[in-house]
Amino acid sequence: MLVPEEYIIEETEIDERELERDPPGVHLRYNHTEPSVISDGVDFIAVIEQGGDEFRIDYWGYAFGRMYITSEGVQELGQRLSYEDDDIPSWTLVPETVDANDPPWWLPDGTAIDPTVACDNCEETVSVREIVTPRRPPVDMEGAVFCRDCWEQ
Ligand SMILES: [Zn+2]
Repeated sequence: MLVPEEYIIEETEIDERELERDPPGVHLRYNHTEPSVISDGVDFIAVIEQGGDEFRIDYWGYAFGRMYITSEGVQELGQRLSYEDDDIPSWTLVPETVDANDPPWWLPDGTAIDPTVACDNCEETVSVREIVTPRRPPVDMEGAVFCRDCWEQ
């Protein structure tokens, strides 16, 4: 369940093909950085404001669907984006869908629109959406966080 039942106004049956390929709204993406783990949940959520106290949520991944939720529900979803500075967030915003100067009110305080982290190997700063955090570091490398260039070497 994406949000507690009490926040769901309506859930609609929908064919997967009906979900738009590029829905409007603010997009949240599951940050899949561990290559040996297969993600088996929802990994994409679009939050589309409907006016008033209603938001449409289109989501997909292993499961998919559409629901209408309250503003409390959206705040609950926003909590997925809260994380400690030195952590790799498990959910991130798609920065192109957010106005950094006027971020959505339902984001937790201090949410970074496009957080970055340094690669443990080359020390290059990269977006947390472009990293790999393998269970074991590649041969000849130390650390836990790698940029894609180092990982693919
Ligand atoms: Zn690197």
